[in-house]
Parts: sequence; C-alpha cells; structure tokens
Amino acid sequence: MADPKGFLNHQRADAAKRPVEERLGDWREVYRELPLVERDREVGTQASRCMDCGIPFCHSGSAGCPLGNLIPEWNDLVRRGDWAMAGERLHATNNFPEFTGRLCPAPCEAACVLAISPDAGGAVAIKRVESTIADVSWERGYVTTVRSTVSSGRRVAVVGSGPAGLAAAQQLTRAGHEVTVFERDDRLGGLLRYGIPEFKLEKKVLDRRLAQLRAEGTRFVTGCEVGGTGPGALSVERLRAEYDAVVLAVGALRGRDVSDVPGRSLHGVHLAMDHLVPANRACEGDGPTSIDARGKHVIIIGGGDTGADCYGTAVRQGALSVTQLDQYPMPPQSRDSTRSPWPVWPWILRTYAAHEEGGERLFAVAVESFVGDANGAVKSVRLREVKVSKDPATGVRAVVPVGEQVRELPADLVLLAIGFEGVEHMPLLEGLGLTLSPRGTVACGQDWQTATPGTFVCGDAHRGASLVVWAIAEGRSVANAVDAYLTGASDLPAPVRPN
Ligand code: SF4
Repeated sequence: MADPKGFLNHQRADAAKRPVEERLGDWREVYRELPLVERDREVGTQASRCMDCGIPFCHSGSAGCPLGNLIPEWNDLVRRGDWAMAGERLHATNNFPEFTGRLCPAPCEAACVLAISPDAGGAVAIKRVESTIADVSWERGYVTTVRSTVSSGRRVAVVGSGPAGLAAAQQLTRAGHEVTVFERDDRLGGLLRYGIPEFKLEKKVLDRRLAQLRAEGTRFVTGCEVGGTGPGALSVERLRAEYDAVVLAVGALRGRDVSDVPGRSLHGVHLAMDHLVPANRACEGDGPTSIDARGKHVIIIGGGDTGADCYGTAVRQGALSVTQLDQYPMPPQSRDSTRSPWPVWPWILRTYAAHEEGGERLFAVAVESFVGDANGAVKSVRLREVKVSKDPATGVRAVVPVGEQVRELPADLVLLAIGFEGVEHMPLLEGLGLTLSPRGTVACGQDWQTATPGTFVCGDAHRGASLVVWAIAEGRSVANAVDAYLTGASDLPAPVRPN
C-alpha cells in the first residue's frame, strides 16, 4: 500500500549532476554518484511520492510506458526498502532497465497523474527510481544468469545488436531456442555503442549486460554483414538454410539530409552520425576521431536527442562555439494545465544536460544556405526565421520563411541532426525479397512477420527511429511471435502490437 500523502510531504528531486567544469573534463556519465546509503534513502523518498493510482496512467493507456512497467508496484517496494523484489518486478517487464533509466525521455513521467497540477510538486521521478533499481540490482547481485531448462532444437538469427535485437535475443534464448546475433560492426550494441555518447551511457553498462546474455547462451558474431558478399559475410542462402527464423533488428539509420540547400556539398557539412560514431569509437580507444570540433564554430541543425548528443560531444571536444538550430518555436518552459487537464506527452521545452554545458539554442530558424571559402570548406551559414505550418487536410508540414531578414553565423563544422528517413539500403533486404514501405521501414503483419515467411522485423527497422523503450518493447513482442511460429504457441510477453 503506497503512502497516500507522500507527494504532499516531498517535492520531486531529480538526480544531481556533476559540476559542468568537472564533466567537461571527461566523458563519464553526467550524474553525480552519491554514497550508496544516501542514494538509496533519497530514491526511496522519491518513490514514496507515488500514490499507487487506481488507473496508473504511467504504465497504461496510449501515453504511458509501452513496456507496461509495473511502476506503482516497484515504487512501493523501493519505498519499503525491498530492492531485491523491486529489481525482480522491474526485470519482469523490461530486459534492460539500465538503458531505459538512462536514455528514455520517460513518457511515463509525462503521463504521471502528479504531473497534472503545478501544486503536486511534479511527476514522480520514475526514471531516477528505475535506473537506481537497475544499478542496485547489479551492485548486489540480483541480476543473475537465467539459463533455459528446455531446448527447442530450433535456430534463430537476429540481425542487429541494438536494444530491439538484444531484447528479442534474450527472450528467445531463455525460451530454449538457439539464438545467434549478427552485428556488422566490430563491437556489439548498435546505436547504444556508437550512437549514444559515453556521457549518457557508459559502455561498461552495456558490456555487463552483454556478458549476461552470453552467459545465458546467446551467441554473437561481430563484423558480419548478413546478406553481403565481403569477407566474414553470411549469405542470404546460408541464412535461410541454417536458421529456422530470422529477426531483422537492423535499425533505421538512413539520416535525413538537406540536399536541396545551397552549399550542402561543402567540406565540413556532415550527418550527425558521421560525427557521433567516430567520437564514440575514440572513447572506446580506437584513436583520434575523424571529425573533431576542437577550435571550431559548430552549428547543429535539429533540436532533438541526436542534436543534443552532438552538442555535448562538440563541447567536450573543445569547440569554439556551439549553436543548435530548431525550426520550431521555443516551447513553454513548463506545462500549461489549462491546455488539457489529463496526463499527456507535454509540449514543453526539453532541456538536455548538454545544454547546461555552454553553447546556444536558436528557435524558429532554418538554414537558407551554407557559405564556403575559396577551398570549398564551409565558413558560415545563412539563417532565416521560419514558421512550421501543417496542411489540415494532409497533415503534411511545411517550413515557411517569415520576413526577409537573413542572419549569418560563422561555421567550420555543420552537423545535420534532423532525423532519420528509415532503414539503410542493404543487400540483405533485396536478398530476402523485401522492399521498404513509403516510410522507409520494413512492413509486417500483426504477427510481426514480413512478406518473407519466417522473417520477422522489430524496433526502428519496423517503427522508424524511436525511443529505446519502444525498441525493447518490440523486441519482446517479436520474440513472442517467433516462439509461437517455431513451437505453435508462446507464453512470452508481448507488450505491444505492430503499428
Ligand atoms: Fe504513481 Fe504517477 Fe503512476 Fe500514479 S501515475 S501510479 S502517482 S507513478
């Protein structure tokens, strides 16, 4: 039974961050490590703010947690200091709470009933509670190796080792199938490894989870392009012959570009991933990054998560200036409860830790052109004020210039972080006879099966670029479908359905 007055006695308190000067001197996660007793007490107090609502919007309905995380249940367990049971209940619905606790923008918090009223002290700090339960579970050995006691004798290939592929692999291995995860990169983790900066997710957190999957029996093959023909590749013919089912979890990494903007081909204008991947490789010890912001005026186009990742990376690399451009107007700083009394995803200004570390954000602007020097390198960007309008009939958005004024900013490095257009073109899809939908993703039926029998899809490859929590939810759901395909029925959970 929750404490019904907890939220009246305690204000929301987010995890404290390390001082900016300190975190700019390294790549470690931005949050301050508290003494364990103090941390557990603080998080217990935060968990005590949960009211255990009759209808917990945080994990039900369209706005809450797609995994159906049992939030009020583990909030109460943490309040009572039962961290072992809290860890068990958290892992009952979420394979990797240490990832969601660090990376998910927490639709659960936006949906929390306490977010409705400004007088309620703010939503329960669900993300903080979640990541602490996950960390405590690892520290105290509550995360164990779960070995299947049955063997189906069926073989499953999972293509891609991001969160969707890893969730599917863990579920299917535990269900008794022989699972091999193929990764084309030299290290495992997909976006978690090379897309997310170390200051948001230290890779030791990923590595300890991968060690658990290995110990449970999941096999991994790196440096293997499935469907390719180069060294180490696995042909489609062998894939089909050697595996009873295939799960495509290849992500949606085709970066959106601005090819029509004059000057796009100048040196120094790059897609965001061209900056983030080598920066993350450098953190792994692979030598200096190929695109370094040190001593440069950096312009980041795009106001979302990826843009913020570039922002924090550029600041740490020693950029002379960092400016992030957003074509949308600056949202309000806090929720306007007169817009809607119900818990919904709020249209409020999202500020990332990186935004405290220097630099500037500009809103309602778009690049009109990139200006180059005599050597063909970008030297500035020309901006126009814009507004985004939406055609009420088609829903298509258009960016319309406002006024005539043009502003010019110095730029030695421009990073395009304006989203992703879908799955990269790869021989595997052609080899399997699959084509991409108009959204650039791989279509599937209600059983997650693509047009090619025995081949399933999940995560960003199916949904388009989305949240880590959706990737894990889809990975768990596709595991249910594959298990049913191989054995006739499945007891594995399926928290979401294909969209
Ligand atoms: Fe607790 Fe908020 Fe969920 Fe209600 S909506 S159960 S207060 S976390």
